[in-house]
Amino acid sequence: MIRFSQVSKAYRGGRPALQGVNLHLKSGEMAFLTGHSGAGKSTLLKLICGIERPSTGNIFFDGVDISRLSSREIPFLRRQIGMIFQNHQLLMDKTAYENVALPLIIAGVNPIDINKRVNAALNKVGLYDKAQYYPLALSGGEQQRVGIARAVVHKPKVLLADEPTGNLDDISAQKIMDVFESFNQVGVTVLIVTHNLGLISAPHHKAYQLTAGRLIKG
Ligand code: ADP
Ligand code: ADP
Repeated sequence: MIRFSQVSKAYRGGRPALQGVNLHLKSGEMAFLTGHSGAGKSTLLKLICGIERPSTGNIFFDGVDISRLSSREIPFLRRQIGMIFQNHQLLMDKTAYENVALPLIIAGVNPIDINKRVNAALNKVGLYDKAQYYPLALSGGEQQRVGIARAVVHKPKVLLADEPTGNLDDISAQKIMDVFESFNQVGVTVLIVTHNLGLISAPHHKAYQLTAGRLIKG
């Protein structure tokens, strides 16, 4: 699904953020990525979704070399990926339902399908009953689950999460990990950046570590 071949990335004027990274994430796999602040974790995720481009090396997504995609082609890549951030970036003046519906409205999906898919996504993250709540009426963990519902509402093949449990207590964080696990069980490929390896209950998932831009299989 995702293959990095000798990927390096240096930002203008900086030391390399990633160096000689080889990574193969198979379709349907769930993997974790750890490492200290500044190790290159966010850069690795940004390369996968085309926010940044590698300085050298190649990145393949579903067999397509995305390292040199034109900006016109990037939206086609993005549509296949769901991104989840630590700060879920919800719109505070919109309900959970409206937040999740937004990507579909922008994509011009018809209203009947929007309704079906938003309800299905909220249901999968356990928030069907709170569809009409505004973010401030939800707990941090629930807000994050709205963010996940929004990321999965267009049925991406891949979910990328950057510290999705960063601000949460252990119980809420565990619920978030269970939600990712449930998407993985239906075939979604999942890559999660986390400091909290203690939350990973399933030993069959791979864990990678980045140290100063170099990837080590954990
Ligand atoms: P992590 O997510 O592991 O904290 P990052 O990928 O954010 O690491 O950063 C890796 C390195 O690249 C750091 O030294 C960081 O300062 C640098 N970096 C990240 N983004 C930029 C950028 N847009 N411009 C310049 N340097 C950057
Ligand atoms: P995180 O590691 O959680 O992404 P950072 O504080 O490293 O948080 O980065 C926040 C944002 O600033 C990111 O978009 C990153 O690309 C950018 N950034 C990080 N380091 C630098 C840098 N040295 N120069 C410019 N932008 C940077």
